[in-house]
Amino acid sequence: MSQPFVQKRRQTVTANVGGVLIGSGHPVVVQSMTNTDTANAEATAIQVAQLARAGSELVRVTVNTPEAAAAIPEIVARLHEVGLNVPIVGDFHYNGHLLLRDYPETARLLAKYRINPGNVGAGQHHDANFATMIEVAKDFGKPVRIGVNWGSLDQSVLARLMDENARRSDPRSGTDVMIDAMVVSALESAQYAEQLGLPHDRILISVKVSSAPELWQVYRQLAAQCDYPLHLGLTEAGMGMKGIVASSVALAPLLTEGIGDTIRVSLTPEPGAPRKLEVEVAQQILQSLGLRQFLPQVTSCPGCGRTTSQFFQELAQKIQDYIRDTMPDWKAKYPGVEEMQVAVMGCIVNGPGESKHANIGISLPGTGEDPRAPVYQDGKLLTTLRGPRIAEDFQALLEEYVERTYGQGEPAGV
Ligand code: SF4
Repeated sequence: MSQPFVQKRRQTVTANVGGVLIGSGHPVVVQSMTNTDTANAEATAIQVAQLARAGSELVRVTVNTPEAAAAIPEIVARLHEVGLNVPIVGDFHYNGHLLLRDYPETARLLAKYRINPGNVGAGQHHDANFATMIEVAKDFGKPVRIGVNWGSLDQSVLARLMDENARRSDPRSGTDVMIDAMVVSALESAQYAEQLGLPHDRILISVKVSSAPELWQVYRQLAAQCDYPLHLGLTEAGMGMKGIVASSVALAPLLTEGIGDTIRVSLTPEPGAPRKLEVEVAQQILQSLGLRQFLPQVTSCPGCGRTTSQFFQELAQKIQDYIRDTMPDWKAKYPGVEEMQVAVMGCIVNGPGESKHANIGISLPGTGEDPRAPVYQDGKLLTTLRGPRIAEDFQALLEEYVERTYGQGEPAGV
């Protein structure tokens, strides 16, 4: 795939997270996080499975209590029962040193530990607690993510940098010092982990903030100062459209500069909305930048006064949903199908042209046009659909096209 606008990836070492390779030599990895009570093994396993089936290549769960830590073996067992081996990452705050030490089977089963250096204890306990977690990671051969968050920044680092800044003849702004403090906290913690014996290629870093311009500043600094793989994400992105736009705006420039080796989109789910939306958004960000291809792209026009019926919007939605729902099956049976381009257009103004450029495309009749819908396949007119079953007929043609075009190779994953 050509990537004319995306710069070369920033060079990093590769971290192996439960078999998923993260770093510049590998595609940017999509990950997500559950919002169930981890102590409820059944509910958590169900949500992990939903996220994994939606395309999350790693799933993080909070491990916040002894009950949550005790539930990890059952969660992993339940996933294995349904054939899912998605790596589970444990998110630790405040008591991670105790939980990892007291639940060795959990420590063994988790694929990575997320450690927030701002939440491992203060004063004399800070280094000891951090060291305990690193020792467990060494014992079990696990990577860690040093995950700094602006809301829980290590206050001792911030205070030190603030003091240094106050002594400068040209003091920097408070925001700049806070950004420096987050970067310093992450890199000093990584350095300390290495001093404790954790290999360089078992460390990933994230520094999350909630504003896009600050995220760019933080990650550009990080990218320039280390070769650890970077986990990219805007924290507290928000709900629905606001969260989707904010995350896309925040992540796209960095990914375009080659910065970021794994991403998570932190959406607050709208009531009743599926958790997997954050996975779909992350995939769409990478797909829109041409960095990865997850599922066939459906191109549809926005519609205008030339088409008064909602039929074409419904058809575009129907085809998009059909492709997403069918993709797990297609992916196993039809290698390369994710590269397919499908066009659903509202009238003849741009419809035939766009449809010809797609692998398969339909141009619906606009207002006042003949009630007929030409279908193009690989640039040539295939047939013209008429009557009340245009949607069903087009779906059948799409299915035939996929089978004929991508059904030649060996089935994948069996
Ligand atoms: S293809 Fe037709 S209906 Fe769609 S936006 Fe263009 S003119 Fe309007």
